[in-house]
Amino acid sequence: MIFLRKQLSGVKIMVLTVERSPEQTKKATYSRTNPFRAEVLKNINLNGPGSSKETRHIELSLKDSGLSYVPGDCLGIIPENDPELVATLVKEMEWDGEELVTINKQGDALPLKEALSSHFEITLLTKKIVQQAAALTDNEELKKLAEPENVNELKEYMDGRDLLDLLRDFGPWHATAQEVVSLLRKMPPRLYSIASSFRANPDEVHLTIGAVRYNANGRERKGVCSVQCAERLEAGDTIPVFIQQNKHFNLPEAPETDIIMVGPGTGIAPFRSFIQEVSVNETRGKTWLFFGDQHSASDFLYQEELEKYMEDGVLTKLDAAFSRDTDQKVYVQHKMLENSQELYQWLEGGAYFYVCGDKQYMAKDVHETLITIIEKEGGVSRDEAEAYLNDLQKQKRYQRDVY
Ligand SMILES: Cc1cc2nc3c(=O)[nH]c(=O)nc-3n(C[C@H](O)[C@H](O)[C@H](O)COP(=O)(O)OP(=O)(O)OC[C@H]3O[C@@H](n4cnc5c(N)ncnc54)[C@H](O)[C@@H]3O)c2cc1C
Repeated sequence: MIFLRKQLSGVKIMVLTVERSPEQTKKATYSRTNPFRAEVLKNINLNGPGSSKETRHIELSLKDSGLSYVPGDCLGIIPENDPELVATLVKEMEWDGEELVTINKQGDALPLKEALSSHFEITLLTKKIVQQAAALTDNEELKKLAEPENVNELKEYMDGRDLLDLLRDFGPWHATAQEVVSLLRKMPPRLYSIASSFRANPDEVHLTIGAVRYNANGRERKGVCSVQCAERLEAGDTIPVFIQQNKHFNLPEAPETDIIMVGPGTGIAPFRSFIQEVSVNETRGKTWLFFGDQHSASDFLYQEELEKYMEDGVLTKLDAAFSRDTDQKVYVQHKMLENSQELYQWLEGGAYFYVCGDKQYMAKDVHETLITIIEKEGGVSRDEAEAYLNDLQKQKRYQRDVY
């Protein structure tokens, strides 16, 4: 962190930049390709009894790693596959889990079980995997599915299915374990918005992770990383991580700038980081958080902390929307609309507007609602409201971290 003097509207102010100090940059030798094994300090479920969700609050130690981050950055985790799934694969294929298999072009080898646990992606099928697998069986059905003209049927088959499904569905296989693993891709890391401020928690990094569980094609499916974090990661364990900087999602340079944050569900994560950072800043602007989830009684993530921040004046406004508490579903965008006049005033006063969380529905609804608010409160046409929002985006005053 460094402080710079800046001239803004003729007034000299202290600006807190989000740059890393030269020492911080130099010390960090850990990276995506050389991850740091961070120790788990805490791992708790934030949801209360009766919730249909499981959201983990995880605290990791970065002690002696030289790693640091700024609010808005992400943490990458290199996950491991579910040991039960790996054991089922090895058993059903009658493989020897201790057999050495080559895992890359350089010829590095690992025992099969370890390779399936920590090196390869086994929960997702690709067109290439299925098409190449067709050469390893006499199964006519798979050979037909792998033909180029059946690409739509192939896509439909792959949706919600994994390697175990493929091997079960299209045997008998004339393939060695090596031939099968040679089809697989390397396990990709998962990214998580950091939920803590490094300045407020030196040497720690906190995450807010929603466990992904669903049923597809007659089998219970578990998200690789989120369920590992939920079911198989305890205090004292270590996990490989790296910092992924995010240059497109940062606090305003001038700390007295007002910020509006919309973060339902796990979308709250970077805003916990923002609020913690604001709490340790000497100069601060107003802060407004919109949070949303299903039930207030069981799903109000970080409720106590947020209420304390309200009491202490770190958080100026907190609006929460719960979609399953009433007959009519209430979402964050409804809370924005209820407060449309004030929200527009904040924007007109120079506030930054941030959105984090669900890309498919929430971020689109929030975007539409912003346009509606600008139209209504600014007395402008839809085109003009869109131009206003584009302009905010150009000024980096409308930032999104959606997934
Ligand atoms: C920049 C960024 C920041 C992120 N921040 C966070 C964060 O702070 N907290 C957080 O929890 N997540 C966050 N994510 C998402 C996170 O990276 C993972 O994608 C998520 O945890 C799932 O990973 P997984 O390994 O558990 O699941 P995977 O094994 O990767 O499985 C997920 C896949 O399962 C499938 N799937 C999921 N649900 C269903 C369903 N109901 N029906 C059918 N198929 C389904 C989908 O194909 C989905 O892509 C972020 C993502 C990005 C890109």
